[in-house]
Amino acid sequence: LVQLRGVTKYFGDFRALDHVDLDIAKGEKVALLGASGSGKSTLCRCINRIEKATEGTIMIEGRPLPQEGKALAAMRAEVGMVFQSFNLFPHYTVLENIALSPIHVRKVPKAEATAQARDLLARVGLADKADSYPAELSGGQQQRVAIARALAMQPHVLLFDEPTSALDPEMIKEVLDVMTELAESGMTMLVVTHEMGFARHACDRVCFMDAGRIVEQGTPEGFFTRPQTDRAKDFLSKIL
Ligand code: ATP
Ligand code: MG
Repeated sequence: LVQLRGVTKYFGDFRALDHVDLDIAKGEKVALLGASGSGKSTLCRCINRIEKATEGTIMIEGRPLPQEGKALAAMRAEVGMVFQSFNLFPHYTVLENIALSPIHVRKVPKAEATAQARDLLARVGLADKADSYPAELSGGQQQRVAIARALAMQPHVLLFDEPTSALDPEMIKEVLDVMTELAESGMTMLVVTHEMGFARHACDRVCFMDAGRIVEQGTPEGFFTRPQTDRAKDFLSKIL
């Protein structure tokens, strides 16, 4: 579903991504781990084309990422992204936040988009918050709205960049529960996370990045019990 070949990204002279190859199959859940600065966010941002890769190709469902314009907007709609900071629109209600892009980008009729937004809110356990504003919600609730908003675009793959890092511990679980449910529903997911329990139990594969490269990948069980590279061993010794 997602195929990266030789993806390289420079910021000035600095090489943030170094010939990354990655394949994510339909329905696969991939955890992207690595130390701070290893390039995890940059990789997600290149897949979603918030950043443009300097070299290499990124294919979504067998089609290369378009360079710009309408084709890019359409393709980007197929790749949802959930950020550490929830980025909800503060002046719109929760329901409007979710329905806005389907109405304006996917041209879904308003009544239908609103009904769909209500279903999604129920799915993330927030049916009673439809008319609240983001500032009236807890961080965990806001992040669940952000997930519902991403789902409203009916993406083929969802990228998560540290979705729980900005949350207090008691709110992390409610967001991880929603993500676990999504994973079980068959959604294709690439998840940057420090939640090793999620990586280990909800993901099919772990990719470990160091200095802009994927230096190790395998099953969660294999990665956590038998890391191959010194960098991965060092990383795990610090977080487990
Ligand atoms: P973290 O775990 O801290 O989020 P990360 O693995 O997500 O780290 P990235 O944010 O992808 O790391 O950054 C990779 C490298 O690229 C870092 O050294 C960072 O300083 C650099 N970098 C990222 N974005 C930019 C930018 N817009 N301009 C210049 N350098 C950047
Ligand atoms: Mg990051």
